[in-house]
Amino acid sequence: MILDGKSPSGPLAEKWDKRQQEMKLVNPANKRKYKIIVVGTGLAGASAAATLGELGYNVEAFCYQDSPRRGHSIAAQGGINAAKNYPNDGDSIFRLFYDTIKGGDFRSREANVYRLAQVSNNIIDQCVAQGVPFARDYAGYLDNRSFGGAQVSRTFYARGQTGQQLLLGAYSALSRQIKAGTVKLHSRSEMLDIVIVNNEAKGIIVRDMITGRIESFAADAVCLCTGGYANVFYLSTNAMGSNVTAAYRAYKKGAYFANPCYTQIHPTCIPVSGDHQSKLTLPHVRVSQKRWQGMGAS
Ligand SMILES: Cc1cc2nc3c(=O)[nH]c(=O)nc-3n(C[C@H](O)[C@H](O)[C@H](O)COP(=O)(O)OP(=O)(O)OC[C@H]3O[C@@H](n4cnc5c(N)ncnc54)[C@H](O)[C@@H]3O)c2cc1C
Repeated sequence: MILDGKSPSGPLAEKWDKRQQEMKLVNPANKRKYKIIVVGTGLAGASAAATLGELGYNVEAFCYQDSPRRGHSIAAQGGINAAKNYPNDGDSIFRLFYDTIKGGDFRSREANVYRLAQVSNNIIDQCVAQGVPFARDYAGYLDNRSFGGAQVSRTFYARGQTGQQLLLGAYSALSRQIKAGTVKLHSRSEMLDIVIVNNEAKGIIVRDMITGRIESFAADAVCLCTGGYANVFYLSTNAMGSNVTAAYRAYKKGAYFANPCYTQIHPTCIPVSGDHQSKLTLPHVRVSQKRWQGMGAS
C-alpha cells in the first residue's frame, strides 16, 4: 500500500498558498449547480457547511443531535492558539508550527501543520467577526494566555467555555445560511453508510432517528466532519456521541485509517496505576490527585 498524504509541492511555507493559486475556480453562477453533503455539525462541520453555503453551493448538513449546538465541541474549554504575537513575546507562525510539530512527537504532517499556523490568525479574526466573546484586557484588546506548556502567550479564550462560545458563533453562521436557503439541516439523522461511485464518495445513507426511516442522499462531494471516536477506548472523556460510527463506515468503504491511537485524551482523568505509568500521566496530575485523596476524596 502506498501512503500518499498528497502534500502540495514546493518549499514548506509556500506549499498550500501555491496549491490555492493553482486550483481551478468555480464560476459563481455555477456554484449553485453543485451539492455538497456535510456530515457533522460540530465546529468543523458547522463552519464548513456555513462557509460552503455562503460561497453559493447547495449544502445538506447532517447530525445526530437535536441541534448543532450539542456537538461535542461544546465541551472544549482552554482556548485556541494563534500566532498573533500581541504580547510581543517572540511568537511567530514558524514558532507555532514548530511547537505544534513538537507537541505531536514530530509525527504530524508538516505541510498541514504549517498551514494551520498560517491561518490561525485569520480564524481568530473570523470568530471575532461572528461575535465570539473572546476575553479582552482592560484596554479592550483581545487577551491571551500561555497554555499547554507554551513559552509564549498565544491562546485566545472565552473563560473556561471557549468551545461553547465558538460553537455558538459557528451555529449562528450556519443558521444564517439555513435561513438563506443554501444549507438544509437534517438533525437527529445518523449516517449509516457512504455511497461510492467510481472511487469517489457521492452520497450517504441516513437513518431518521425519530421515525427509523432510511433514506439516501446524493451529492457531488461528501465531507465527513464527524469528530473524535475516543469512546472505542475503555477510558474516555468524550461524549458518547464521539464514537466511531462514521469513521468505521468510511473505513469499510475503502478509506485509509491511520494511527487510531492518535486521539484526544485528558490525562487528568486517567487513574494512577503505578510508578511506571506512561508519560500521559503528568507529574502535576499525580500530586494533585494525592492531595485530593489526602482531602478525603476517594
Ligand atoms: C473537555 C474537552 C476540552 C477540550 N479543550 C480544547 C481546547 O482547549 N482547545 C482546543 O483546540 N481543543 C480542545 N478540545 C478538542 C476540540 O474541542 C475538538 O477537537 C473539536 O471540537 C472537534 O470538533 P469536530 O467538529 O471535529 O467534532 P464534534 O464537535 O464532536 O462534532 C461531531 C459531529 O459529527 C456528528 N456525527 C458523528 N457521527 C455521526 C454519524 N454517524 N451520523 C451523523 N452525524 C454524526 C455529530 O452529531 C456531531 O455533530 C477539547 C475537547 C474536549 C472534549
